[in-house]
Amino acid sequence: MEYIEEECPLCDRISKFYFVDHDNRKFYRCEYCTDFQVYINVEDILRNSTDTLKRQLSKASHESPHDKVLAIGDGKVVSNIFRTFDFEVAV
Ligand SMILES: [Zn+2]
Repeated sequence: MEYIEEECPLCDRISKFYFVDHDNRKFYRCEYCTDFQVYINVEDILRNSTDTLKRQLSKASHESPHDKVLAIGDGKVVSNIFRTFDFEVAV
């Protein structure tokens, strides 16, 4: 996999990501927010959302079970998905 450096959409710090799910999601690895995923169709919405929401999502990412990562979807869908299986579980 190839990492690309980019500002984290949750905390604006430099992080890195690689594409997963046939390029439909970015898998971010942020030292501050830990590992999480963002569906690319909501990335702009996420980056333009309130700091309060971003902080909540960063916190949710921190609190994900160790075998799961937070996946941020279309403004409403926030779920923890297993790292290694394409299986989603609602929070
Ligand atoms: Zn971050």
